[in-house]
Amino acid sequence: MNDHQAWERGARLMAALHDRLPHGVRQQLGTVLADYRRHKGEMLALTLATGSGGICRACGGQCCQNGKYRFSGLDFLSLLEQQTPVPAPDFARKPFCPYGDADGCRMAAPFRPLDCVLFICDAIADRLEEPATHALARLEQELRQGVRRAEALLGQRLGQPLLLLAEHPDGTDLPRR
Ligand code: SF4
Ligand code: SF4
Repeated sequence: MNDHQAWERGARLMAALHDRLPHGVRQQLGTVLADYRRHKGEMLALTLATGSGGICRACGGQCCQNGKYRFSGLDFLSLLEQQTPVPAPDFARKPFCPYGDADGCRMAAPFRPLDCVLFICDAIADRLEEPATHALARLEQELRQGVRRAEALLGQRLGQPLLLLAEHPDGTDLPRR
């Protein structure tokens, strides 16, 4: 299975999983995902407040290389739940991230992969001070807890990369097409 096939398979798997959720579970998942998006947005806002935009432009996005495994099953469900179009990955951009383009990431801050949101390079970390560092640590805990909550709710390892979930689904029946 190549990357594109794995992506398609993973997307179908997550859509099928979401489609057949009982109403109550879907509502609970919606609450978890709303927090997941909000916490990501708050975390990125705190790093942007350091002036990271200019630093990242000068850097050229070194941390956005080889990003194909960062997008998780839960990141996919977060887009799906909001009926937000999922950016079609371009795996031919390797080593650059398939979810980015010349202008940077194609996903809005609350939808970016958790791994991307949590990563803070030294250049940004050097500019962080209290109380931002404390707030970032708290938000990281909240985000990781959100992943665990969603995984427990759906009985799937949703924090895993979508491309790997496609190859090793946790017993989820994948509709054949
Ligand atoms: S977060 Fe750090 S490594 Fe990533 S683009 Fe910005 S400056 Fe570069
Ligand atoms: S998903 Fe976006 S933020 Fe993450 S590595 Fe790719 S382009 Fe960068």
